[in-house]
Amino acid sequence: MAEILSGKLMSEELTRDQARRVAEMKEQGIHPGLAVVLVGEDPASQIYVRNKGIACETIGLYSRTVKLDKDIPQAELIKAIQALNEDPLIHGILVQLPLPKHLDEEVVLASILPEKDVDGFHIDNAGRLFTGQEGVVACTPKGIMYMLKQAGVPLAGKEAVVIGRSNIVGKPVAMLLLGEHCTVTICHSRTQNLKDHCRRADILVAAIGKPHFVTADMVKPGAAVVDVGINRVDGKVVGDVDYEAVKDIAGYITPVPGGVGKMTISMLMENTLEAACRQAR
Ligand code: NDP
Repeated sequence: MAEILSGKLMSEELTRDQARRVAEMKEQGIHPGLAVVLVGEDPASQIYVRNKGIACETIGLYSRTVKLDKDIPQAELIKAIQALNEDPLIHGILVQLPLPKHLDEEVVLASILPEKDVDGFHIDNAGRLFTGQEGVVACTPKGIMYMLKQAGVPLAGKEAVVIGRSNIVGKPVAMLLLGEHCTVTICHSRTQNLKDHCRRADILVAAIGKPHFVTADMVKPGAAVVDVGINRVDGKVVGDVDYEAVKDIAGYITPVPGGVGKMTISMLMENTLEAACRQAR
């Protein structure tokens, strides 16, 4: 039976520590602030934005939600971001994705100042990660590494397999695992013999977006299985891993809900605090 890596418990501990750090920062005259830009009224995005606001409030961060019309022209959205770039009350800026189709995500993200890009999606920060330089690391991959390290999962020299090659999860988590000296394989929809790759993995990260995709026969006994997926099935949230079957084979497993998702928000708070400290210096 696998050890359950509880994002809920780890994030609760982080929240206590972050609240203490925010209080200390305020005593030194630093009031960390996060702006979340929400374009349109996508119901899932609204829930995510609300949860981010609650997380800010819990640790004492100043938070501002900038709600913009779904039809906003790109130039106006960029103007709004530039105003936040220049706003001394704001240390971190997050543009909630996905954006409406008429907006070019890459151009919009590139308009955020890299030092305020607390999502770590700016090309500057992605490039820093790729070249092993210090920068803002994307929240979900950062949270995954935090969970693995907290649990003491051995990484150096181990086989890591990441299923998914998105810019926000698959690629950055693969770079972070490489940085910890794992031997990394990235799989995707065109990968041949996917099961064989997965069965070699000491660390298996599933970031696909397909419910129960990773089955027990794809998992090496004792492996650390990280389930990034968030899928809604019959009104319930489930991951990309067949949790019930895989938990009896894996050495470590993250649940959904209560796993990686919780850490993503914690790491957003962490990135905002770090950004505020850097900007204060
Ligand atoms: P994307 O849709 O951007 O990427 C999915 C990846 O999975 C792609 O690289 C795709 O391959 C690959 N894939 C799809 N089908 C298969 C298949 N049959 N075999 C192998 N690979 C396949 O998703 P994201 O990376 O943005 O997100 C992945 C999941 O994680 C989603 O469920 C999302 O909701 C969740 N998520 C959770 C977060 C959290 O905080 N817990 C944060 C971010 C995302 P290809 O490139 O070839 O198309």
